[in-house]
Amino acid sequence: MSDYRSMWQDLGMDLENHDLLCQVLPTAVGDVFLSQKNRPKAMDFWDLVISEVHGIRPAELVKAQQEGRKVFGTFCVYVPDEVIIAANGIVTGLCGGSQFWVPDGEKVLPKSTCPLVKASVGARLGRTCPFFRIADMYVGETTCDAKKKAYEILGEDVPMYVMDVPQMKRPQDIVRWKDEIAAFAKRVEEFTGNTITPQKLAEAIKVINERRKALKRVFDCRKSECLPISGRDALLMMQISFFDDPVRCAKMCNRLADELEQRIKDGVSVAEAGAKRILVTGTPLAVPNWKLHQIIETSGAVVVCEEMCTGNRYFENLVDETQETLEGQFMALAERYMKTNCACFTPNKGRIDDIMRMVKEYHVDGVIDCNLKFCCLYDTEKYQVSRALKEAGVPVLSLETDYADTDAEQLRTRVGAFVEMISAK
Ligand code: SF4
Ligand code: SF4
Repeated sequence: MSDYRSMWQDLGMDLENHDLLCQVLPTAVGDVFLSQKNRPKAMDFWDLVISEVHGIRPAELVKAQQEGRKVFGTFCVYVPDEVIIAANGIVTGLCGGSQFWVPDGEKVLPKSTCPLVKASVGARLGRTCPFFRIADMYVGETTCDAKKKAYEILGEDVPMYVMDVPQMKRPQDIVRWKDEIAAFAKRVEEFTGNTITPQKLAEAIKVINERRKALKRVFDCRKSECLPISGRDALLMMQISFFDDPVRCAKMCNRLADELEQRIKDGVSVAEAGAKRILVTGTPLAVPNWKLHQIIETSGAVVVCEEMCTGNRYFENLVDETQETLEGQFMALAERYMKTNCACFTPNKGRIDDIMRMVKEYHVDGVIDCNLKFCCLYDTEKYQVSRALKEAGVPVLSLETDYADTDAEQLRTRVGAFVEMISAK
């Protein structure tokens, strides 16, 4: 790894503690990714990014800040990147996916908070993640109680803006979300000192739509019976896309999709003959949470798609590019973002429809619905997800886990039994 210590020091990081995190990452990357056989060559980009995840992109962000640009850290796929980009801002994802950050989060949050929220707060307060140090403003949203309360605590340490996401999807809720996006745009203009014009917003909408199309191309390749990429590699690509420059992200995903499409034509598959095809759904898998994919893909199965925010929800549905006024563009954004089916909405039948559609499109043999401990929303929705799948005759396994490795063997046993059961069908 190149030497980024002086940058980390300037960012006020706890270097001693951060060294401990840097020590474990290479082993994890080696075990989960580099040990796989027959990977697409284009994964070299993501291998490099993840091997220097606290160096390469943070250094770019710091340089951009020195040139006068503002960095906005976000935690949810409802926050419209387009608005930030239209004001020449930069977006970076901030969700924490490592157990390493959880103890620092537990210093201020109840233990019975989901690990994603504890890790996100811990990464900031423990000063062990450069992205959490770099972001000039955090943008939260009222999607779940754990996040709402955590944002109050984070807001004591860093400028924080919280968007009020509606709880339902009635026409009046979509209009309310449009107004919320317009209010956010005003705050972004004030914070960056740049005006959002219809032309700038149109360009930003196009940039993010292009990223969506590129990610979709990669996912479309996973529908093939000849599977050209593992679930682990696709997940890594997806997780990094939340941090990367969107134009480069689209370019790299298109490069990967070119290779995957060629692999399908050439009959090159990463899956063993007879490997069972799994759809993973549930709470998002923030980087570096690779535990479940690693277990599934070393238990005789392959992950062919993720119905989650680190999956289809990040790229499905494009924003209408034909609007020419800010009002029209804000409404187009509201309409697209409100098509995302998170468990924070009621009712949320759209998520069940998405899962059933994806089961068909990706030729799925079984579904694993895995939720983070103490996530009441997804845990409760598990009942309806499981019932709908059972009624349709699709095998489903419901799991609950956290970021610790202590349950890995137990998960392995349950996943192994599930794969065996669907193999015997
Ligand atoms: S699961 Fe819901 S709250 Fe979490 S990132 Fe996705 S949309 Fe946002
Ligand atoms: S996993 Fe559940 S509890 Fe945790 S942040 Fe997401 S919606 Fe909230």
